[in-house]
Amino acid sequence: MRRGTNLPWVGDYNQAVVLDGIRRHPGTSRTELAGASGLTLQTVSNIVRRLLDRGLVQEGEPLLRNGSRPAGRTAGKPRTALSVRPGAVQAVGLQFEREHLDAVLLDLSGEVLTVDRVPLPGPPGDAGRAVDRAADVVRALLDGRGSEAVCGVGVAVPGPLDFAGPVRSSAINLPGWRGVAIADLLTEGTGLPVLVENDATAAAVGDLWRSRRTGRSFLYVHVGAGIGGGVVVRDEVLRGESGNAGEIGHLVVDPAGPACSCGATGCLEAVAAPAAVVTRYAERVGRPAARRAGLLLAERSVLDDHDRLGILAGRGDQAAAAVLEAAADDIARVVFGVVNVVDVSEVVLGGSGLRHAGDRVRAAVQRRLAVAMAREVHPVSVRFGEAGEQAGALGAASAVLHEALSSTWAGVHVPAREIVISPVAPVH
Ligand SMILES: [Zn+2]
Repeated sequence: MRRGTNLPWVGDYNQAVVLDGIRRHPGTSRTELAGASGLTLQTVSNIVRRLLDRGLVQEGEPLLRNGSRPAGRTAGKPRTALSVRPGAVQAVGLQFEREHLDAVLLDLSGEVLTVDRVPLPGPPGDAGRAVDRAADVVRALLDGRGSEAVCGVGVAVPGPLDFAGPVRSSAINLPGWRGVAIADLLTEGTGLPVLVENDATAAAVGDLWRSRRTGRSFLYVHVGAGIGGGVVVRDEVLRGESGNAGEIGHLVVDPAGPACSCGATGCLEAVAAPAAVVTRYAERVGRPAARRAGLLLAERSVLDDHDRLGILAGRGDQAAAAVLEAAADDIARVVFGVVNVVDVSEVVLGGSGLRHAGDRVRAAVQRRLAVAMAREVHPVSVRFGEAGEQAGALGAASAVLHEALSSTWAGVHVPAREIVISPVAPVH
């Protein structure tokens, strides 16, 4: 876990450290927290008392070091297990994709209380109607729940974002979103504070927040409608000058390739994102043959068509296998380059564009990374993120909880409201 400091004026930071330790290690004790954080037992005990008073954590059955309960008089000093109190603090997470919206309700204890996917109205990129729909979804999510425990809404959207002033989307590949003040509109529609984050960065934050390990360095590769990346080095999210670091979808892989929505030519996104792969297949076999194979080739069917290609490839369609393999290799080449630049030890893959193409992408990345520069110093693992397709939504919700309970998060854009804790009641 993170190291604390015993200097008296950084109480908030230490409180965040202790709460984070309890959250990541349910059942831990004051002594163990002191050992792991470097704080004195007295400091930890004082902080735990405050967290108990605020209803954020709870004490479990006193346990002995070997995990058994004390029976009568015991020689060893019993330890009291600590854990986050379920239901004490929650956050909503939203992830906008071109055609749908994912919504989750996440508890501080890490439990995902609700997962919902709703289609977005209107043509892709109609930001006004999409945000209205999102506000409806949030209100429905909170309806009938004790919403006083919900400390905010996290929103994951395709980048880039303009964080100067009200957070505005400047998504180049979603023209209808440009200049839209997402946070302000959603705050207006829900009455809750809103934190906006680039989707790939949000997914990386979520993977970090839900992990029990600390000191991690990884590249999160998000394949949705577009391709984005989130870079984490020793638990710190690389944000860059304006919060827009990690746009791996706009590294050029084929200078002679198609024009990209960003204005460059042959970007990874222009050759390997689901829309590009579907287009390539249709060009290769002809549109009538592609339709006969089950593709719809409509603006709103890109992800379904991309899934269909995965199924066709599995049934022996060589053209489908070829276009998916080429895209996987392009993604792998970019990942290889980024891994060498930022020196991470993990690559985490996620997003709805990997539903049927994920194994192929993972294998291609593993092949490329066999010659990563630091291979003799440390291995680089490649795996799928545990949050699956909801990674962005869960990450956005995690970012809200992290920001609300910690003074160290750099991605603070809209202050979360003071958390109102309901009276401490026994949790069943
Ligand atoms: Zn580009």
